[in-house]
Amino acid sequence: MNNRVLKMNVGFLLHASSGTSNDSMLDFPDVQLSDEITLNYIRGNLRMSRTKEGILVQSHLETAFDDACFRCLDPIQHVLTLDIEELFAFNSAAETEFRIGEDAVLDLGALLRAEALIEQSHRALCKPDCKGLCPECGANWNYETCSCSDDAIDPRLAILKTLLEK
Ligand SMILES: [Zn+2]
Ligand SMILES: [Zn+2]
Repeated sequence: MNNRVLKMNVGFLLHASSGTSNDSMLDFPDVQLSDEITLNYIRGNLRMSRTKEGILVQSHLETAFDDACFRCLDPIQHVLTLDIEELFAFNSAAETEFRIGEDAVLDLGALLRAEALIEQSHRALCKPDCKGLCPECGANWNYETCSCSDDAIDPRLAILKTLLEK
């Protein structure tokens, strides 16, 4: 899905009095936010409220993107739960990085892109107890066992061992 679905027309709220709010549910599959980030789904609620400075966005969303487990490198869905409270301001005077466009469009994509970029830098695991890869042979310890750790004795220790045995 194109990220255009995240461009909300808020014209109706701009003309409403301060305090007016609008609730909606979001449920989108596969939204491409940028060349680098595609969210596999976006689900949750969205409240947009008219304030004096702009539109306050409050949202609880669950989304996910494709990632790799940082221990075993298996492909995973990196799930992201977002509690958003962000003001989209009318003018540049207000201290916010998000604004409502001239065309009365509020772009949630910009906000989600920022959140996803932060989350991408966080390491995710395929499961909490992922066993990872063997540093010797690369075997994925979640699926197989290898004999590396059993009889892997550092060569220097091996010499010591033979000396001790004499
Ligand atoms: Zn893993
Ligand atoms: Zn191994």
